[in-house]
Amino acid sequence: MTPAARLSCSAAMIALGCAGAEAKPARTPLDAAEARAEQTVAQMTQEEKIQLLHGTMAVFIPSAKRAPGMPVGAGVIAGIERLGIPPQYATDASLGVSNIMDMRKGDVATALPSGLSLAATWNPALLREGGRMIGSEAVAKGFNVMLAGGVNLVRDPRAGRNFEYLGEDPLLGGVLVGAQIEGVQSNGIIATIKHFALNNQEIGRSSASVEMDEAAMRESDLLAFQIGIERGKPGSVMCSYNKVGGTYACENRFLLTDVLRRDWGFKGYVMSDWGAVHSTEALLAGLDQQSGEMIDRKRWFSTELKPKLADGSIPLSAVDTAAKRILWAIYANGLDRTAITPKPIDYAANGEVALQAAREGTVLLRNEGNLLPLSGSVRSIVLIGGKADLGVLSGGGSSQVVPVGGFRAVEKLESGPAAVFARRAWGGTPPLDALRSTFGNAQITFVDGSDAQAAAEAAKGADVAIVFATKFATEAEDQRDLSLDGQQDALIDAVAGANPRTVVVLETGNAVAMPWLDKVPAVLAAWYPGQRGGDAIAQIIAGTTNPSGRLPVTFPASVRQLPNPVLPGSDLPPPSKEDKITYGVNTNSPPFTITYPEGSDAGYRWFDRKAEKPLFAFGHGLSYTSFRYSALKAKGGRTVSASFTVTNTGTREGADVPQVYVTLPGKARRLIGWDKPVLKPGESRTVTIEADPRLLASFDAALGRWVVKPGKVKIEVARSASDPVLTGQVQLAAQTIRP
Ligand code: BGC
Repeated sequence: MTPAARLSCSAAMIALGCAGAEAKPARTPLDAAEARAEQTVAQMTQEEKIQLLHGTMAVFIPSAKRAPGMPVGAGVIAGIERLGIPPQYATDASLGVSNIMDMRKGDVATALPSGLSLAATWNPALLREGGRMIGSEAVAKGFNVMLAGGVNLVRDPRAGRNFEYLGEDPLLGGVLVGAQIEGVQSNGIIATIKHFALNNQEIGRSSASVEMDEAAMRESDLLAFQIGIERGKPGSVMCSYNKVGGTYACENRFLLTDVLRRDWGFKGYVMSDWGAVHSTEALLAGLDQQSGEMIDRKRWFSTELKPKLADGSIPLSAVDTAAKRILWAIYANGLDRTAITPKPIDYAANGEVALQAAREGTVLLRNEGNLLPLSGSVRSIVLIGGKADLGVLSGGGSSQVVPVGGFRAVEKLESGPAAVFARRAWGGTPPLDALRSTFGNAQITFVDGSDAQAAAEAAKGADVAIVFATKFATEAEDQRDLSLDGQQDALIDAVAGANPRTVVVLETGNAVAMPWLDKVPAVLAAWYPGQRGGDAIAQIIAGTTNPSGRLPVTFPASVRQLPNPVLPGSDLPPPSKEDKITYGVNTNSPPFTITYPEGSDAGYRWFDRKAEKPLFAFGHGLSYTSFRYSALKAKGGRTVSASFTVTNTGTREGADVPQVYVTLPGKARRLIGWDKPVLKPGESRTVTIEADPRLLASFDAALGRWVVKPGKVKIEVARSASDPVLTGQVQLAAQTIRP
């Protein structure tokens, strides 16, 4: 049965009783992994089953007591040798094998660009390849569980972890995370989609409760997870720190049992985020494994669990169920066959993956008068600020990778909740070096940008000035506003005032405001570009790479346009001692409630609903060539499809990202698909996009189904969420679809 057929149930079928119409067997036939898991559990002692349910952290185990070969990473779950159950050795995360606070002394790994950069590629094949690459390094370092697959939606451009995630759209994020997970797991290891769910900001990440109605969740954040799980089939889901509807996500029966297992049929296990468990009863709600148990208030899934099993308040069957799910993921992904003995890593080949991702993830936002690419005959370039002599790499926190070659400079964070585990660090290929080798005939000088006047003076005499503008972001903290760090806005203003041929390269973990935009002809968003970022930036500036990145997030003109102009919780005092005891080690605020006025209309959909004009729209990105869209043929019925021609009308080869949006009556515009054809000058390609019918539906919580209403729907082939080029209209047929 096709996925669409499996998921959908027409109005006629509903009338007949949909379950019958779908001919669902009474019990899902056990697949091989499930059967094996059941057999193994039958042979296990209670002690052995419990062993699978709780994890520790290698850093807390004295080295003499570590099992031979145990790598130091985020988590450890002991194996059971007599049954051939391998240990689970977990490492962060989505952007490479991280090495937080140098826990494995001197160990390096290939650092991919940030999640927003990966998302800006709009290229699932590249995410798959990136996942395969980081997963292969994880295995070679002795890990077999990768905490990779962060897909919380970007709802606010001030949220500190947005750089790790894949943008504001559930389809884009879901498709990309699914590809990444598939890549990671192709190494015979487990990937973890996270953080489930609605952990969209850092302030209050442990103490806040998100209130959102079910339909809004299902159509936004949950949909991103659903699509990611369907496509990537992760062995594990990581539940988040926050509460949802007043209940911690890690003991939230609605999320972990009703949605994840009953509705989505997820067969793997739920692991907690580190320090996110608050009870033994979480087991009954659907949590299977307590991670890093020593940082929770109690060892809920070991010490606290045993007496409850003995007095019958937790049934033994709950332990069996959790153990079975963990074993299913182990067998389904072949962990028992994957050798996790250290192996050499081909860092040169892996660095090419990081380079390709940075090339495709860099977005050309503005290019007045075609200032870029710079001609090879340029004689003098002044590079300014942003530590372009060292290289911006990444954001801070559990995703932070020490790149091949090590950090070039590290700055401790003096205060704030991230100070204990995050640093600001530079490394990879510095743009200064990369530009010097690219423009061998030009004189390239660097000024650090600390003195705006001196920078403007230096810029005045140069053919071109390139300002590297940065804003640091880290897990555990959000950002106060949309401004660049420190005095960089004034710096850019001064430089652009002195030299009209000024290029700004943004290296930020979020959308930022650009008060100087009118003065600056060319702007690149390079995000945190990873260890080959400098090379990618130099290639785009020189035109040896034609930019093809598209924004995975909206750049607002001001915080006043955001659904929450004041970031929820940002006006609260620090947490009290009691708050920290109640909510755990990651508590960074007193408890409060987060509401999202945009509901399911995150990002560009909110801007559409409010008819607000963003600074740069979701989906926006320029190229050094131009593309024409023509010959739209749109079809309706049970789904919507659009077929059209893309032609490269310029003089260079380039990749385009044509996007298809629909607008349903009374609803905000929504992305239903895209493609990324690479076209030579003059070449044309027909692109066909067919919508996942859930994107045409509203979720009806009372009915527990997606409902597609019959009627007219507008289809747009667009360059961005604000730039439709071709428009059509089709008629949709009624249907309801299983959740
Ligand atoms: C983060 C997770 C991470 C875990 C283990 C937590 O602080 O929220 O994303 O996987 O730590 O390092």
